[in-house]
Amino acid sequence: MKNIAVIGAGTMGNGIAHTFAQFNYSVQLIDVSENALKKGLATISKNLDRMVAKEKILENDKNNTLANITTYTSIKEGVKNASLVVEAATENVALKGNIFKELDKFCPKDTILATNTSSISITQIAAKTNRPDKVIGMHFMNPVPIMKLVEIIRGYNTSDTVMDFTVNLAKKINKIPVEVNDYPGFVANRILMPMINESIETLYNGVAGVAEIDTVMKLGMAHPMGPLQLADFIGLDVCLSILNVMYDGFKNPKYAPCPLLVNMVMAGKLGVKSGEGFYDYSESRKAGKVASMFS
Ligand code: NAD
Repeated sequence: MKNIAVIGAGTMGNGIAHTFAQFNYSVQLIDVSENALKKGLATISKNLDRMVAKEKILENDKNNTLANITTYTSIKEGVKNASLVVEAATENVALKGNIFKELDKFCPKDTILATNTSSISITQIAAKTNRPDKVIGMHFMNPVPIMKLVEIIRGYNTSDTVMDFTVNLAKKINKIPVEVNDYPGFVANRILMPMINESIETLYNGVAGVAEIDTVMKLGMAHPMGPLQLADFIGLDVCLSILNVMYDGFKNPKYAPCPLLVNMVMAGKLGVKSGEGFYDYSESRKAGKVASMFS
């Protein structure tokens, strides 16, 4: 395996591209938006600089990593030699369905098609292709170059060979794979998102402010980051999509997204990526100042 195509150059896509490229795979990074590709490459370069500064890699490793990445705006062109595709486009069922139809059409017949979806059914995505045995979930965590965990999700038709191959590949890029089955939210988000949603509900009900809620969870439960700050880092739109998938999938009101989360997403307050969520990121990506709406 040499060529790995990554679909989407956003928060996750650029991290996935960075990680494979750092381990010497040839990465074809594909996005519909030229601007997203430019921003994605700039983020990779900045993150590599940080690793050089911390003496985790050498300047030469940075240059080699960047040289391993080529960008494309066309799926057809980008995937034609791919042995594996990791799809990390926007969390939307219809959009991912269309992407997988295209991947099935334009990839070589043996290409494994992985999705980094946070919650959408692997089985449903696989059904859009004529190779459901070769479709699998590869759920990386944010920030990808740093976080060790990858949930490897077995769809209803995923073959044992593809499962074993993907688990081994994750190990080759120095990650720790955990095998899980295909139900809404898998394991990570089935547990994380209700906690984030409950934190937003706690704020919405006026029980405590943003900083107070995060402080309780950091100092009381030894979480490295409070749930509201974490939601800002994940992206509030991504959190909302995941909750909606679990709400629809389980038909259980405990997953219903808090109206405050819905309102914030409608208002374009998406967290770090839009400059404001529960905290204000207009001056720094660090969550120092609580957003004026909540202060
Ligand atoms: P994002 O909004 O930062 O990036 C999505 C990118 O996909 C954008 O650059 C967009 O231009 C691109 N895109 C949209 N349609 C496309 C298409 N048809 N072809 C190619 N590119 C297309 O989103 P993200 O946070 O990186 O999330 C990507 C995926 O990863 C989602 O499925 C999400 O659920 C999952 N995920 C996110 C996180 C997180 O912390 N943000 C963690 C794990 C998994």
